[in-house]
Amino acid sequence: TATQPRQPLLKTALPGPKTKAIMERDSQHLSTSYMRPYPFVPDHGEGVWLTDVDGNTMLDFFAGIAVSTTGHAHPHVVKAVQEQITRFAHVCLTDYPQEITTSLAERLVAHIERPGEKWRVFFGNSGAEAVEAAVKLARNHTGRTHIISTLGSFHGRTYGAITLTGSKTKYKRGFGPLLPNVSHVPYPNPFRPPLGSTPETCGQAVLDHIELLFSTVIPADEVAAIIIEPMQGEGGYIVPPADFLPGLRALCDKYGIMLIFDEVQAGMGRSGKMFSFQHFAVQPDIVTLAKGIASGLPISAMLAKESVMTWPVGSHGSTFGGNPVAAAAAHATLDLLEGVVKHPGCGESLMDNAREVGGYILAELRKMQAEFGFLGDVRGEGLFIGLEFVKPDGSPDGALRDRASMAMFEKGLLNLDCGEAVIRISPPLILTREDAETGLKIMREALAAL
Ligand code: PMP
Repeated sequence: TATQPRQPLLKTALPGPKTKAIMERDSQHLSTSYMRPYPFVPDHGEGVWLTDVDGNTMLDFFAGIAVSTTGHAHPHVVKAVQEQITRFAHVCLTDYPQEITTSLAERLVAHIERPGEKWRVFFGNSGAEAVEAAVKLARNHTGRTHIISTLGSFHGRTYGAITLTGSKTKYKRGFGPLLPNVSHVPYPNPFRPPLGSTPETCGQAVLDHIELLFSTVIPADEVAAIIIEPMQGEGGYIVPPADFLPGLRALCDKYGIMLIFDEVQAGMGRSGKMFSFQHFAVQPDIVTLAKGIASGLPISAMLAKESVMTWPVGSHGSTFGGNPVAAAAAHATLDLLEGVVKHPGCGESLMDNAREVGGYILAELRKMQAEFGFLGDVRGEGLFIGLEFVKPDGSPDGALRDRASMAMFEKGLLNLDCGEAVIRISPPLILTREDAETGLKIMREALAAL
């Protein structure tokens, strides 16, 4: 007989006693800004499974917000980390080179360089730090100040990053003054087309809107950069129409503006290609990476064309940036993403697997969409998938989404919301078809019970 796929194992009513006790201490001593969508306190993980402190084992469909690409405690990653930490944990990349980070930079640029076009890498510790570096570089390189970002975007929590972020006002209220000279334009969301456009014309509508701003309120020759998520993450896992990013590239070329792609969430293989912009025929000037780079160890990167990375020696740095232990984890993660090391049951590489299993999940969710009228939209690429809940009039139904999310959790599926009324599906890229089936079955049961 074939072995049965692993199932969630709920040993206690949720939350269990140890979870409750830690959550109580957490609420007493940690920052009041932390959110707690449902009661879960991890104890240990293995692959796509996480076990809480009460011994309840859950299927992980959010991977620590699109971070744990190789799953939890992947043996190849653990070994790489152990080997490096016994050699040295820190010296400081700002002042001394270290081979492990040099070779990591070489591997990253290999995924983006084109003939005759060299790229360079700056390493930080978080997505926000990569975004700050990108904006500083764009201003420094162009000698211009204005930055254009998009509505619905998320770029992080530091001052520059919250200024660029175009979603919830709670990220900004009471924190000002923010960075000057930042404007926001709509994101071409085919499901909710902005500016009176249609799903087919929304890309061009946004480009026309930017041109209108350039001829009226923002002198184009004062614009240093346009920063955009090639697939929008926190805003709702949105894929723009195919003509949009090439059009944006042409617009940037016309006015000498740097095009920054924030790949912090959709990048590193999640979409089924190394970078999500590679689904479109387009090349940026600057790219930011974090989250999925190192399977959970903190490291981020800002990549820029050599012709753009012209800032002077000593003008930017980071004490911990490019930490060698995190770099070791990044090498191991790349091994699995590229298929240099194979993960059993995941085809030639984790990127292949993301395409394969993601395509399967998308197709299955579209079947559910036909069954449940409140699933307004199912979208995504690879294992970057959004499920949008709507009211009968088509408007976003955040309350229903929250109930669905909780119902899935109670059945042993860890999931996370995004946007106004979206559940994101961003599991580890080692998710097999069998485990995907298990997750989909839980989702269907939870949705049916709504
Ligand atoms: N950019 C994008 C696209 C993100 O999704 C995030 C995090 N959600 C960030 C930047 C900020 O990353 P970090 O939290 O590591 O600073």
